[in-house]
Amino acid sequence: MSPLDALIARSESDLPEVYDHVESEVRSYCRGWPAVMDVAEGSWITDTDGNRYLDFFAGAGALNYGHNNPLLKKPLLEYLSGNKIVHSLDMATVAKTEFLRTFDELILTPRELDYKVQFPGPTGANAVESALKLARKVTGRESIINFTNAFHGMTLGALSVTGNSMKRAGAGIPLVHATPMPYDNYFDGVTEDFHWFERVLDDSGGGLNRPAAVIVETVQGEGGVNVARMEWLQALEQLCRKRDILLIVDDVQMGCGRTGPFFSFEEAGIKPDIVTLSKSISGYGLPMALTLFRRDLDVWSPGEHNGTFRGHNPAFVTAAAALQTYWRDNQFAEETKTKGKLVRERLEAIAATANGVTARGRGMVQGLKFEDADAASAVCRAAFDRGLLLETSGPSDEVVKLLPPLTTSTDDLAAGLDIIAESVATSAA
Ligand SMILES: *Cc1c(COP(=O)(O)O)cnc(C)c1O
Repeated sequence: MSPLDALIARSESDLPEVYDHVESEVRSYCRGWPAVMDVAEGSWITDTDGNRYLDFFAGAGALNYGHNNPLLKKPLLEYLSGNKIVHSLDMATVAKTEFLRTFDELILTPRELDYKVQFPGPTGANAVESALKLARKVTGRESIINFTNAFHGMTLGALSVTGNSMKRAGAGIPLVHATPMPYDNYFDGVTEDFHWFERVLDDSGGGLNRPAAVIVETVQGEGGVNVARMEWLQALEQLCRKRDILLIVDDVQMGCGRTGPFFSFEEAGIKPDIVTLSKSISGYGLPMALTLFRRDLDVWSPGEHNGTFRGHNPAFVTAAAALQTYWRDNQFAEETKTKGKLVRERLEAIAATANGVTARGRGMVQGLKFEDADAASAVCRAAFDRGLLLETSGPSDEVVKLLPPLTTSTDDLAAGLDIIAESVATSAA
């Protein structure tokens, strides 16, 4: 067997027996990528058989600066070897002081964002839950507006504003107090943008309770790489301002430079009232999340929203180092945009070779949408067999999503795109 044939012949049953015997059926990624991953550096992962994979998934956007980035690993190792405090609830620590100062100096102040910073617990869902709670507390209203195909996490509040019916069903109870509205281009441009939303908001017979907040992603990653236009985001901000509804941007996946600028909403020139960040905020794949909000919205009582893992100091160390390394100026954002254009051009060319395939995305989140959803999965499988990690997204898993680390070299990007071209040619053309 050639090495490629050996890879192709692999299946889930080749994983150590303990996965099937001990780990719950809920596991998912190891099914699509049946290999035991071991060493990871930059954009590359090596499995226990020595196979190397180019990672175009980057921990679902948690590894924007690559695996084990040496510039972040050095301060992390120094911190650990110095017996510095690791777990601290929300006590004051040297690492946290440094992170807060750096975040304020390099991210908030230059962007004139007068936000307070909350540590809500270490996951994106924690940040979303606290954002929803705060919006409800501030306004005294219950209902939230979300969008079709939104993804905001797996806890009950976050699920209530998430679109995917399979994920929602997992709640096992009614998911209430949220009303979905059409995301940009939901009707392929046929219906005027906020026609329905404004109509039911302003009509006393519309049946819509006055919402506390609107929660939105500027690009829906899990929802299928749906990109909202800048004008749409600006109109949404206006709509919220006019009616005293809070605007929450969930930047858990698209923040930290994924689309170019640090926050994905910067290009639209909007200023959300509340912002959630997680995934790449620690920079190293360590769990960490932030909820940011306008200073005057800080109506929390001490301890009203807490959690055991809000003071994960190793994450603060790598988060501060990531900001100092990549966000002192615009260079990194510009490089990301340039790489994004390169990826997009190549995807357009690949799409032109197959029927019913289109390219979509912004910055370094790009995708190929297939009319035939099975073709998207087949492409990901074929790419894995050639050593490229790629995931599908979208309501029917019909979109092949590209989320390479932003630090991926142009050579590696080209190599991954070659594999995608081959995979489309063999499985979808
Ligand atoms: C991943 C994600 C979440 C949830 O984050 P978890 O860390 O998985 O809880 C929320 N919102 C968006 C936009 C995400 O991509």
